[in-house]
Amino acid sequence: MSKFKPLEYKKNIFDINYDNLKKKKIKLIVFDLDNTILEVDKDLPSEKVKSFINKLQKDFIIVIASNNVKERVRKVSEYLGCDNLYSIGKPSKKIKKFIDKRYHIAMINTAIIGDQIVTDILMGNRLSMYTILIDPIGEKDLKVTYLNRWLEKKILKMIKLKRGEYY
Ligand SMILES: [Mg+2]
Repeated sequence: MSKFKPLEYKKNIFDINYDNLKKKKIKLIVFDLDNTILEVDKDLPSEKVKSFINKLQKDFIIVIASNNVKERVRKVSEYLGCDNLYSIGKPSKKIKKFIDKRYHIAMINTAIIGDQIVTDILMGNRLSMYTILIDPIGEKDLKVTYLNRWLEKKILKMIKLKRGEYY
């Protein structure tokens, strides 16, 4: 299977079947930050996102992993009360070491949820994580994401995945 292809594709974080993830023995969920749980032009997630993630914390360890800078990522993770990893340069494999060291959980028992194929999904597939793609929640992207989106369009065609056709 293509390293770019997510195992699931849903509209947003609320549409994911988390009971199914539990059945698959997923113990730790990594959330991307920008355009997955928070719009790029906002500082903090909505109340809805906060209470949703807090509920998930009863069943899963939640980690936010972002290519964005310390200040932004820390602020959000403190607000949500979860762990974080910033400036990680996805699709790098840095997160594996972090999860090994801190949680002693095998990567096959982890999931990644994110809005980008070339960072979130590629990293997850490289590490045998359970990969779930969602649509970006905001209209805007970070400037650094423009090239990724251009690449993503080509890759989506290659792997025959259409935005809006969820599975
Ligand atoms: Mg993102």
